Amino acid sequence: MLIPIDRTISPRLVAEDVVSHKLTNVPADHMFIAEFAHGEWRKARIQPYRSIPMAPLSLGLHYAQIVFEGMKGYRMSEDRIGVFRTDRHHERFNRSLVRMCMPEVPREMFADAIHTLVDLDRDWVPPGPDAAYYIRPFVIASEERMGLKAADEFLFMVVGGPFRPLYQKPLRVRVERTYTRAAQGGTGFAKCAGNYAAAMYPTRLAQQDGFDQVIWTDARDHAYVEESGTMNLAFVIGGSIVTPPVSDTILDGVTRDSMLTVARELGMAVEERQVSVDELRDGLQTGAVTEAFGVGTAASIAPIEVISIDGQDLSLKIAPDQLMYRLKQHLTDLRYGNIPDPKEWMNIVNGAAK
Ligand SMILES: *Cc1c(COP(=O)(O)O)cnc(C)c1O
Repeated sequence: MLIPIDRTISPRLVAEDVVSHKLTNVPADHMFIAEFAHGEWRKARIQPYRSIPMAPLSLGLHYAQIVFEGMKGYRMSEDRIGVFRTDRHHERFNRSLVRMCMPEVPREMFADAIHTLVDLDRDWVPPGPDAAYYIRPFVIASEERMGLKAADEFLFMVVGGPFRPLYQKPLRVRVERTYTRAAQGGTGFAKCAGNYAAAMYPTRLAQQDGFDQVIWTDARDHAYVEESGTMNLAFVIGGSIVTPPVSDTILDGVTRDSMLTVARELGMAVEERQVSVDELRDGLQTGAVTEAFGVGTAASIAPIEVISIDGQDLSLKIAPDQLMYRLKQHLTDLRYGNIPDPKEWMNIVNGAAK
């Protein structure tokens, strides 16, 4: 798919600022936009990054008919630019869209939009380690309408920019026993906007008590751990990597899947099974649980050093030879092109859009 490009006449890029990471968490020069109307996607184009007109009564603004993705592009060895696992993000994007009664985005449009945009703004992709180009595809119901209905008009957009996570201290997290992120039959598996608004208040309460994040538990009994904040959750228990299975309440993280695949390849024992809060508490006390970490695109792998359960803070040792750091290093090496990539997880953008 050839996407028409309207290039900016006032580039904001200062290349040295990208390299020195002074330019971080800001949008790059261009964005992709396409419109859905009369049952089809049309007018796909790339244009300068700017605000978009939106009717005050757009359905997405009131009823949260909004779905997004979060993915990354990397500056790899030999100055190649690669996007991590576009297809896997695309499959999840469409699962989220179906759940929210929104039109699917064809694979070709999704991949071409992202790869062309990243290619065009390739000078904005910062060098690693840790730094990357964050990519945010989203669809929003743009139809103007007084009153509730499933929209028939949408915008699909992709924006992105250089992103360097702040220095990541190991996390202090609290097991959430009152509030719920996702319930059976709900939308927890979808990256839909409303999930994140609903998580803000319990997260703020945990932060006011000195924690970075909550660990969400099942909606019915608050007895089984599910995710941490907006990351999947994994432990090392008795030497095995243990993570709860994906379900309609646990989002199918691309990083989670990548981490499990790499762990198996490296010969680590892996268990996808439920973990109860009781097992976690006992395991932290007896020392059976040796590692806990969050897994997601933003931080890759985020070590956890304190888990608070019903008012009791239980700590974990953090050491550089732990499994989570081996997994993180392997994922980092893949993303920055330091080791072979036989699964072709990196989509190299080839400079054609420049
Ligand atoms: C995005 C997200 C994740 C992580 O998914 P990745 O594809 O690894 O980035 C996990 N949980 C929730 C709730 C999320 O929104």
